[in-house]
Amino acid sequence: MPEDTQVGETETFAFQAEIAQLMSLIINTFYSNKEIFLRELISNSSDALDKIRYESLTNPSKLESGKELYIKIVPNKNEGTLTIIDTGIGMTKADLVNNLGTIAKSGTKAFMEALQAGADISMIGQFGVGFYSAYLVADKVTVVSKSNDDEQYIWESSAGGSFTVRLDHGEPLGRGTKIVLHIKEDQTEFLEESKIKEIEREKELSDDEAEEEKKEEEKPATEEDDDKPKIEDVADDEDEDKKDKKKKKTIKEKYTEDEELNKTKPIWTRNADDISHEEYERIL
Ligand code: ADP
Ligand code: MG
Repeated sequence: MPEDTQVGETETFAFQAEIAQLMSLIINTFYSNKEIFLRELISNSSDALDKIRYESLTNPSKLESGKELYIKIVPNKNEGTLTIIDTGIGMTKADLVNNLGTIAKSGTKAFMEALQAGADISMIGQFGVGFYSAYLVADKVTVVSKSNDDEQYIWESSAGGSFTVRLDHGEPLGRGTKIVLHIKEDQTEFLEESKIKEIEREKELSDDEAEEEKKEEEKPATEEDDDKPKIEDVADDEDEDKKDKKKKKTIKEKYTEDEELNKTKPIWTRNADDISHEEYERIL
């Protein structure tokens, strides 16, 4: 059971034993492909946006705490932080305590075993513990969250077996989650906007690739199809090659942030009024 020590308003909890073990492993294992943390955190944000969008379909008042659904990524070199903000469903205090540290998950042990058997850290998401990949690049993680069903709380941990949760008197989020990664001294490349965009662009390419496979027949021809041959090209190459090509492509295509967002904006990041009935149907 987690220890629960109250110090003023701050409560300290022990991570569930295997989660603590997993975190040490993530922190201490030599592993170069650290950028996968961003994919995991964005995936969690996407899930959170999905959840509030879904709830709002039957109960539109759920969006009174914030109608705009989006994910933002904000690097801050001065502070040494990379922040991922979403206006998703958010977490109650109980959610923070349960979902980010005290409830045992079967995937935790399974993932550690898989690693020993030669699996790659990038498979972490498949084991349901993707959040902890934040510790590949951060020595401290602060999660501020606001659910419709609770006050705004702050979860924080520098690993070492414990985390804290306290009521947040800071700037109100309205609704959603803000994850502040205090980037490790040797990982400051993740504070570079260009590096972040590169990872996002890589993610989009691989997502598109997966999407294309899924939607091949049903999808009407759009400008997105222009990307397709390039993606196929890339898919045939070796991993290192692949990275290089994608990198080059990123530079070559010179996406401005707006173009990038408009083109690939997932349905849940868009204004509810701009989404057609058909589009809603597709995500249900
Ligand atoms: P998974 O996403 O596979 O469930 P994770 O370790 O990535 O596993 O996340 C654990 C849980 O933490 C999620 O299931 C969710 O309940 C909660 N969570 C993480 N990030 C967010 C977020 N941005 N908004 C709301 N809940 C979140
Ligand atoms: Mg996840």
